[in-house]
Amino acid sequence: MAKAGETVLEIDLLALEHNYKFLKSRLDQETKFLGVVKAFAYGSDSVAVARKLEVLGVDYLAVAYVSEGVALREAGVKTPILVLHTLPISFDDLIVHNLEPNIYSPKILNQFLEVAKQKNLNKYPIHLKFNTGLNRLGFVADEIDALTEILNNQDKIEVVSIFSHLAASEDLNESEFTEKQISTFQNITNILLPKLKRRPMLHLLNTSGIINYAKSQYDMVRSGIGLYGFGNESAIDAELKPVATLKTVISQIHVIQEGESIGYNRAYKAKEAVITATLPVGHADGIGRQYGNGKAHVTINGQKAPIVGNVCMDMIMVNVSEIECKEGDEVIVFGENPTAEEFASGAKTISYEILTGISQRVTRLVVDN
Ligand SMILES: *Cc1c(COP(=O)(O)O)cnc(C)c1O
Repeated sequence: MAKAGETVLEIDLLALEHNYKFLKSRLDQETKFLGVVKAFAYGSDSVAVARKLEVLGVDYLAVAYVSEGVALREAGVKTPILVLHTLPISFDDLIVHNLEPNIYSPKILNQFLEVAKQKNLNKYPIHLKFNTGLNRLGFVADEIDALTEILNNQDKIEVVSIFSHLAASEDLNESEFTEKQISTFQNITNILLPKLKRRPMLHLLNTSGIINYAKSQYDMVRSGIGLYGFGNESAIDAELKPVATLKTVISQIHVIQEGESIGYNRAYKAKEAVITATLPVGHADGIGRQYGNGKAHVTINGQKAPIVGNVCMDMIMVNVSEIECKEGDEVIVFGENPTAEEFASGAKTISYEILTGISQRVTRLVVDN
């Protein structure tokens, strides 16, 4: 890969392929795979990632919102797309683009059915989500009778899957809770399936669910973070490859004398002479202020350079006193070293947040060889 001349987010589709195959290898051969490509495919490039997953043979894709699914359809993606957070305002767009809604409450069921009737749809595919403990979106078991009453008296919409979402699949200290979520889901499907005319697919596991609860893989799994190279535990991270690398370049080097300060609010005051490098990446690019003042470091010529002082909107300054480097040298903000997970942990957050937060100002550079 050419050296970065500005801040770029490199997206490695071979790493994506490796991660997809690794996750598939943990599953039964017939288990279907849904690739989660919401939030620009976890901050990378949703079209490039979706197209690659389509070539690899993914069974389903998921986005959070309709607009994200529309972008994929407009790019020619044909794979079925589940919209995880359907909102009534975008029903029309959803239907026009053949996206499949998550229906999670009696209210949204009735609203969608009303539209399906107006448009005279025929067995339009919908997905029912049940709340088994995350307490975010979903029906509860008590609503099953009312639900089946509505569903079985019409042919405008058809349930193609029933699913739920685990709250703490990455945390083995919460395995009792997770097992309870699994048994709640099992009980719900035991009651619901016999009442439906056609047997829908069942799915429950996210990435850490695949790793820790593969026995409950049902008909399909839904993976996001694993595809992008993170498994929420170091043994799995070692098997996966980071898809995204945030690269930048040294714009200017400064020699700061003892007693001088660096950056806004004079947050860093030099107790001795230091050498800093100014980098063209800041909080407007997704490197939040919480990473400043030594909380995170970047890598320059293989060595750690901590962020000094406050993060600016468009720049950061890093300490390169001990590093042989010059203006124009490449900088790795995160990628293989430090990983996004390591970078994020400095500011007590998670890989998901730093990855999805890289703003659209940063050029995406897709690599597939
Ligand atoms: C985001 C999301 C996923 C993917 O979770 P990962 O931990 O990234 O694998 C799966 N299911 C639902 C409902 C989600 O919202």
